Amino acid sequence: MRLSKVLLLSILMLSGCAQLENFFEETSNQSSENEIGEEIDQDMTDYPKEPEEEPEKELSEEEVMIQELPTEANVTDWNLILVNPWEALPENYEAEFVEVDNTQQIDARIVDAWNNWRDAALEAGHNLFFASGYRTVERQRNNFNNSVAGYLSEGYSEEESIEKTKEYLTEPGHSEHHTGLALDIVDHEWINAGGRLDPEYDTQESQKWLVETMADYGFILRYPASKEEITGIQYESWHFRYVGVEHAQFMKKYDLVLEEYVDLIKIRDEM
Ligand SMILES: [Zn+2]
Repeated sequence: MRLSKVLLLSILMLSGCAQLENFFEETSNQSSENEIGEEIDQDMTDYPKEPEEEPEKELSEEEVMIQELPTEANVTDWNLILVNPWEALPENYEAEFVEVDNTQQIDARIVDAWNNWRDAALEAGHNLFFASGYRTVERQRNNFNNSVAGYLSEGYSEEESIEKTKEYLTEPGHSEHHTGLALDIVDHEWINAGGRLDPEYDTQESQKWLVETMADYGFILRYPASKEEITGIQYESWHFRYVGVEHAQFMKKYDLVLEEYVDLIKIRDEM
C-alpha cells in the first residue's frame, strides 16, 4: 500500500496534472495533502480525512514584505531610530560623536561605513563634500529662532514667521541630524560651481552614484520626492541616513522610507 502511494505521489510530483491530483484524492482516503516529501514517510492511515483545503490565498504585498523582513529587525534598534516632524529626539538620547573629514561629527558607530563609502566614491571619481552631520538641539534652536526673528523683522506675524521658517527648517528636537546618523552630502565640484543643498544636486553624477551604492554601505536616501507626505519633509537629494546594510537593502528593494519600514516591523510584532 505504502509503495503504491509513493509511486502515485512521484507521478503527481512529475506531472503536476490536475486530473491526477483528483485521482489521488479519490484513491487515497487518508489525506488531501498534495505536498510531497515530508508527507510520504508518515503513516497517515490513522488520520481522518482532512476538510477540503481552501484555495491558496495570494499574499498581499504587505504580507510578502512582512515575511521577508529581517527577523532581528526591532523598532528599538539604535540604527532605526525615528526622528521626524512628529517624533522628537528622546530627551535621554545618548551617543558618542566623533569628528570626520576634519569638519563634521557623526555617531561613532557609523564612522567606518562613511569612510568606506566616501573612499569608494573617490575611487569612482567623485570627490564628496560632507556638508552637515551631527547637529545639537541647541544649535537647531538658534537657527530656528534666528529665522523666525528675520521674518518678524520683515513684518510677518509671529505665526506666519514660524510657518515660513518651518518650510525649510525642522523644529528643534525634530531634526534627524540630532542623531548623528544623518549626513548631508554633495560633491566638491558642485560646491565650487556655486551649488548648495538643493534638489537639483540630483542632476550630478555623484548623486546618482550615491543613490546606486548607498544600500551597500547601510545608507538610505531619507527624503525621496515621491514620499513627501509620509516623511513630512520635502525632497532632499543630499540627505542620507544610516540604518545598516540589511535594513537599507530591504528598504531599497521595496521602495520604503524609514517611517514605512518601522510601521512594517510594528505590524509584524502585533501579529
Ligand atoms: Zn540633512
